[in-house]
Amino acid sequence: MDIGAGITTGTTELREATKMERIGVHSHITGLGLDDRLEPRPISQGMVGQMRARKAAGVILRMLSPSSFSSSSTVSAAAPGLSGRAILLAGPPSTGKTAIARGMAATLGPDVPFTSITASEVYSLSMSKTEALTQALRRSIGVRIREEEEVVEGEVVEIVVERGITGSGKSGRVILKTTDMETVYEMGGKMIDEMTKEKVLAGDIISITKSSGRITKLGRSFSHSRDFSLLSPSTTFIPTPSGEILTRRTVTHTVSLHEIDIINSRTQGFLALFAGDTGEVAAPLRAQIDVKVGEWREEGKAELVTGVLFIDEVHMLDMECFSFLNRALEGELAPLVVMASNRGVARIRGTEMRGPHGLPPDLLDRLLIVATSKYNPDEVREIIKIRCQEEDVEVGPEAEDLLVEIAGDAGMRYALGLIAVSQVVARKRVKFSGGGSEAVEVEDLRRAYGCFMDPGRSVQWLKEQQGSLLV
Ligand code: ATP
Repeated sequence: MDIGAGITTGTTELREATKMERIGVHSHITGLGLDDRLEPRPISQGMVGQMRARKAAGVILRMLSPSSFSSSSTVSAAAPGLSGRAILLAGPPSTGKTAIARGMAATLGPDVPFTSITASEVYSLSMSKTEALTQALRRSIGVRIREEEEVVEGEVVEIVVERGITGSGKSGRVILKTTDMETVYEMGGKMIDEMTKEKVLAGDIISITKSSGRITKLGRSFSHSRDFSLLSPSTTFIPTPSGEILTRRTVTHTVSLHEIDIINSRTQGFLALFAGDTGEVAAPLRAQIDVKVGEWREEGKAELVTGVLFIDEVHMLDMECFSFLNRALEGELAPLVVMASNRGVARIRGTEMRGPHGLPPDLLDRLLIVATSKYNPDEVREIIKIRCQEEDVEVGPEAEDLLVEIAGDAGMRYALGLIAVSQVVARKRVKFSGGGSEAVEVEDLRRAYGCFMDPGRSVQWLKEQQGSLLV
């Protein structure tokens, strides 16, 4: 969409972009595990325990996006006045602060932006710290844009694909039957590819978006009733001079302010979004985009979607970043900022002062603090079970007991890391002993434990090696 003054949202290209997700340390988390009254279920959506913190996270999300927990798939706009809020998830290591942030992200609707960074990411050679923070903040504000698309809708009666006619080597004709006439639709290579991808056959009802050439299969024509109002009751059919039946459809897309910045940056452009190396964006361009988005909002063409910026290890930010964030949170275009820290009273980077969680008092003052606490052995066991399922590893009952014990002594993250390693050990055991079960047993776990040190043993080892290691 062109937003004037040569500024575009690049929504067409962005819609085409696909996102890939891998199994990761938090991939078992599919939500906050709350019911409609925001009450946490003891074990739900991959989340175990941390009831108070999960409930608090849910309350924050409800304020941000009232429909997040309803059955409706649409997420309404942010509650007015919520922007500029910040919360701190504070608690010992491995108590689920990042897991809760992931749960929040999974609970928000797909068009509510959620950005996750670790504080140390702002220290980069390619851009200043404040630019890195600005980009993260702007990635967390969505602009939901309403656009009118022209589409041709109809039943495909015949598809003829001819080769070698156009430069791209592929072209074709699709004969569409529309409400009151037949239309021969000439197609280029890209649209033929779209037809192939969508597996369009004669008899299918399709729509072709005029601007992008996107083809969508709407269904099959069983009745041949040609009652297209059944397919898209909200659209109006406008006969055009060329004889095609065009419908105008209002569609909405959400792009982040950062995406609009980059797409319109003279030095960057759309592809930089995929490379991830976006460089700095000129301040006047951002100001121009903010004015344009403001005009859109007034004209009713767009609305802002307040998203979430998660900053892990927030104590790694320095004083310059903290004062920048403090000011940024007061701006009109500020997302909800969720910070996490496992530090107690610590030095505030860039100063000689110390502060709770390594944060300066003026920032701390404006935060809502949500505490996470250590797990009891039953909760640890449940988390281990969920992770074993997620990683598809069978663990015998005695080995499971041992894993719970190891998590208590050496930390949850270490114990969870042992699951995959001990599976490799178990498979090796089966291979070399010529049979048996691949389920992880105590003996496999002990081997894995012997191969890899936990933080406590590593400190002990360092003490023993004093004098023989370089400093
Ligand atoms: P740190 O302070 O070290 O960054 P953290 O508090 O962010 O730690 P996580 O990284 O969230 O801790 O937790 C460690 C591991 O345990 C992750 O794999 C996480 O998904 C899992 N985990 C932690 N808490 C829960 C929970 N309540 N339910 C399910 N899984 C959890």
